[in-house]
Amino acid sequence: MEEKRSVYMDHAATTPTRPEVARAMLPYFSERFGNPSSLYTLAREAKEAVEEARRKVAAAIGASPEEIFFTSGGTEADNWAIKGVAAANRKKGDHIITSSIEHHAVIHTCESLEKQGYRVTYLPVDEFGRVDPATVEEAITDQTILISIMTANNEIGTIEPVAEIAKVAHDHDIPFHTDAVQAIGAIPVSVDDMGADLLALSAHKFGGPKGVGALYIRKRTRIGTFIDGGAQERGKRAGTENVPGIVGLGRAIELAVAEMPEKSPRLAAMRDRLIRKILETIPDTRLNGHPTERLPNNVNVAFRYVEGESILLMLDALGIAASTGSACTSASLEPSHVLTACGLPHEEAHGSLRLTLGSRNTDDDIDYVLSVLPGVIERLRAISPLRGET
Ligand SMILES: *Cc1c(COP(=O)(O)O)cnc(C)c1O
Repeated sequence: MEEKRSVYMDHAATTPTRPEVARAMLPYFSERFGNPSSLYTLAREAKEAVEEARRKVAAAIGASPEEIFFTSGGTEADNWAIKGVAAANRKKGDHIITSSIEHHAVIHTCESLEKQGYRVTYLPVDEFGRVDPATVEEAITDQTILISIMTANNEIGTIEPVAEIAKVAHDHDIPFHTDAVQAIGAIPVSVDDMGADLLALSAHKFGGPKGVGALYIRKRTRIGTFIDGGAQERGKRAGTENVPGIVGLGRAIELAVAEMPEKSPRLAAMRDRLIRKILETIPDTRLNGHPTERLPNNVNVAFRYVEGESILLMLDALGIAASTGSACTSASLEPSHVLTACGLPHEEAHGSLRLTLGSRNTDDDIDYVLSVLPGVIERLRAISPLRGET
């Protein structure tokens, strides 16, 4: 009898916390529960664990430990980078440059600043989701105080030319922030090679726990405090540290970066097989995102005449966890801002499917998806009201 399969292919949304990581965290919930700010041995153990994690995060991205600040995740790191630099440079200028395909943690933060009187340029991208560094240069004014472009996109996997964009920023003495949440453990991330002055990362995207991340802040970057309170994180981000989470982040990033040279080519081979077979076997299908400048684990395809949500429901019934390219929420029927920025018509943006691979995925998983997906699309197209229109 065939066992019901369970295939998780939504690693861009979150990853399972690795057992090694969970094990490293456990003592900090119980016997090593001290508050790092207190002044006895128990507290010093917690403090030392936090500082060891800080060294690991710093080593993973080529930074110094003093430049790493722990946060509650990627969203907080992006908020802090953008709002913190905006506040600290208000007298200098009021203009921010970002792209139209950023994560909502960046886009909605910029929109919130617009309500406070800042001006924001949301740069267009090409059909593959790439920001052209020349458009960054053209958008700069004497009021520009920050440029924020993601390292790699969470929906379509496109890798941005951040080093070139950072160079443009620095030629004009403007700090450069990058949301590298999807890049850690997938592609090399070095703050110096990339020219990042600020960089956001999040543990749960690379085998760590949810609710913990970090902001890298290059020395001498002008940035305000984000959370007021005690003197934690050198007075820049108050609140008793999430010690188990921070320990988990440190262990996870250490493992993710060490395993990347083996893991990324392996995932990329599975990714390429998935893409090739889907495009070969299912008609009226196209790849979203860049064909080569792409995260090793990202597959995103648009199927004409179908709704992404219906694909997801049918895949879920078959034990496959995936995501739509169109991050539709029940509250909004807007298609993905990323896919529409790449020029996809609304119908195709709505009919997109994102499969993001992780280290536990196997060739069998790929075979399984390839064995059921054509039938799913065919059944949905057979009942699609969109079909007769063209
Ligand atoms: C997941 C994600 C975030 C948000 O990180 P959280 O830790 O979940 O808040 C930000 N940016 C990108 C690109 C992401 O993929």
